[in-house]
Amino acid sequence: MTRKYVLRCPECGSAFDDEFTNFCPHGCAALLKTEYSCRLTLRAGTGILRFGDWLPAENTSDIQLEGVPITYKSDGLAEELRLRNLYISFSGYFPERNAYVKTCTFKEFEALPTFLRVAERAPGRILVVSSVGNTARAFAQVSAETGMPVVLVVPKRNVDRVWTVGTRAENAFLVAVDGDYRDAITMGGEIAALDGFIAEGGARNVARRDGLGVVLLDAAFHMSSIPAHYFQAVGSGTGALGVWEAALRLNAFGIFKGVPKLHLSQNLPFAPMFRAWKAGRSELIDDDVRDGESIKKMHADVLSNRKPPYSVRGGVYDALTATGGEMYGVNNDKCIEAERIFESEEGIDLDPAAAVCVASLMQAVEAGVVDKGEKILLNVTGGGYKRLKKDLKVYEVRVRAETEGMFPELKCMLEEFRDAILPSRPSTSASSQQQRRSVARTPRQAFLPPPLS
Ligand SMILES: *Cc1c(COP(=O)(O)O)cnc(C)c1O
Ligand SMILES: [Zn+2]
Repeated sequence: MTRKYVLRCPECGSAFDDEFTNFCPHGCAALLKTEYSCRLTLRAGTGILRFGDWLPAENTSDIQLEGVPITYKSDGLAEELRLRNLYISFSGYFPERNAYVKTCTFKEFEALPTFLRVAERAPGRILVVSSVGNTARAFAQVSAETGMPVVLVVPKRNVDRVWTVGTRAENAFLVAVDGDYRDAITMGGEIAALDGFIAEGGARNVARRDGLGVVLLDAAFHMSSIPAHYFQAVGSGTGALGVWEAALRLNAFGIFKGVPKLHLSQNLPFAPMFRAWKAGRSELIDDDVRDGESIKKMHADVLSNRKPPYSVRGGVYDALTATGGEMYGVNNDKCIEAERIFESEEGIDLDPAAAVCVASLMQAVEAGVVDKGEKILLNVTGGGYKRLKKDLKVYEVRVRAETEGMFPELKCMLEEFRDAILPSRPSTSASSQQQRRSVARTPRQAFLPPPLS
């Protein structure tokens, strides 16, 4: 039987099987890509697993989660900007448009394939995710709905962003960290190094990129073509890379032709990729990421990634170059104005990051960068919070640990969490027996597909 996919390194060209591999085994720095053997056939049913042929997991048929991006042709905003072919991809909660992404951002499309890929390719290990909020919320929701376990590491000041809808995340272990995103990443790295845990891998994780590529797939089938322009606010660039790769895949299989120009935006003053691109650099320099204070001033701090895959082979610089793309820096005032216009024209509230993107489209139109008749895809990566909170019950995810000065104790708690969820594992820590603290809730039976033979 042919394999569903292999991983390919764009630097040395070699192909290999996926063992939750996020780095080329030959030591190349490039981002690995999935290479699917099958043409995409849209499946019946709901959620992103309609696009399961091009997601890096085998056992995708028995999970139905609602969240999927929807694409529609804009009237209101299009009219306001005098655009004749403006399409909106909306990832959030907007029942009038049939959009039911309950955690209100496109991070949910990364979460599900990532969980499945871990369960299949790194069985018996618990996923560790560091986040400023949106990613943690998405992974918490998928964990709540499937029972798959996860450790979420989030700065203390952002833990109120971690909630689920409809059901509680009993198998999510939320750690609140003193400090910012960078501190959460450091802490997450330490946890992932413990026995029985695994780091999700960020933009290097093909499941995250292919999951976000679904935005382009849905749009292309809806529009019966690949758009000429694609607009998105970027922090890591994972979404934009996923879209670029999905477009290339549609071309390779002869389904649709063309690749969109990528128009990527960041929120000033912290806009490292924007600064590098505008200066004509293929590398980020310290100056681009130095001003940590400026992160606190951002309207959309979810975009505050200090180590985006910009210069690496197959990364954002390559994607911009290959597509004739452009970058935009947007200040807070413009975001707030864009938010107001979008909400009044399209009838739904925006995630702050999506407001950055809407503002960048306005900039591009003003500058005459896009032709008014061309097909444009605006990725509204998040929104509908106000609507959701009116309609549905939201559960906070309980903080199980705060990290300050308690790492040994935290280690015990994590081992206990692991052993309760993965009971077949031999216990590795004798000391955890004495220092044992009770995990307040009994974890639900975890959904763990059988490992692939
Ligand atoms: C994470 C996020 C982004 C940025 O996505 P990247 O893939 O990190 O570039 C944009 N919008 C929203 C709503 C997000 O949550
Ligand atoms: Zn290689």
